[in-house]
Amino acid sequence: MTEFDLIYKLLNTQSQQRADVLTGIGDDCAILSVPENHSLAVSMDTLVAGVHFPESASAFSIGYKSLAVNLSDLAAAGAIPAWFTLSLTMPAADENWVKEFVRGLFTLADKHNVQLIGGDTCKGPLSISIQAHGFVKNAMLRSGAKAGDLIYVSESIGDAALGLKSYQGDTVVDESCIKQFNQPEPRIRLGLAINDYATACIDISDGLISDITHICKQSQCGADIYLNKIPLSDAYQRHYNSKPDIIQALSFGDDYELCFTIDKSNEKTINKISRETGHNLTCIGTISTESKVRCFNQNNEIVDISRRGFEHFNG
Ligand code: ADP
Ligand code: MG
Repeated sequence: MTEFDLIYKLLNTQSQQRADVLTGIGDDCAILSVPENHSLAVSMDTLVAGVHFPESASAFSIGYKSLAVNLSDLAAAGAIPAWFTLSLTMPAADENWVKEFVRGLFTLADKHNVQLIGGDTCKGPLSISIQAHGFVKNAMLRSGAKAGDLIYVSESIGDAALGLKSYQGDTVVDESCIKQFNQPEPRIRLGLAINDYATACIDISDGLISDITHICKQSQCGADIYLNKIPLSDAYQRHYNSKPDIIQALSFGDDYELCFTIDKSNEKTINKISRETGHNLTCIGTISTESKVRCFNQNNEIVDISRRGFEHFNG
């Protein structure tokens, strides 16, 4: 048995097997059956060690997060996840590492009924690329927001930024923030629930302001954000003794919450979806006719939050 045979064996241990996978791992191609009247939603993300996750992160959490960030893209489109492929580049075929990586990967995959259907394995610096596939009838896009729409965000943002700090030596970071950083939960159920009502949607990976800017660019509009409405977790607020670093929360990213816009007439429906899905949904602002994203403090004054150099801010 070669070292890679061992890896194929581990990758072949997923308990979740779907009937629409006609041929899975082991042949030249995976052969798949797409349900009638649906489009195929496809998304891909690469995670490089030392860039997208700390070198010291556990193999379990690397596996979990690699898939989570991809499923999060499907959630933002309102797609039902089905399959994924995996390109795994590793310096050496360490059996224990791969076992834990696969356990993390399949823990999340089985939760969402998604099956690993193939991939590629190479030797090199640790890097993981996943392509996820899902089914959707009417996908949510970034391009449908219009002036007057309300902007919502799910749950809270900022915890992942604190989670990373724990790897940089901050010893008092709450466990929940470390978990949020290592194992974000893709908001699949929420994406499906808002699909009929959201005019635009994006998952927060680059940072809330950057990601709202993506919506604005694609929708050719602006956004007014009310900083005192930004939902921060109790753990985040406690960490900063009730003076939370709001700019970090707005700009760090890696939150994997959904940010979406709705016509004002659907406000009640969104509150109902919040109750039904158990996800806090907070209105943080309004889509405007301006060509930029503006942030306001509680005195209704514009705040310049570009001091951390947002890559895409106002760009
Ligand atoms: P090929 O030479 O045709 O590219 P490989 O030897 O790379 O075949 O892969 C053999 C089989 O194992 C294929 O079905 C491929 O999809 C699967 N496979 C290889 N690497 C992975 C991986 N990292 N994850 C899932 N399946 C994999
Ligand atoms: Mg190959």
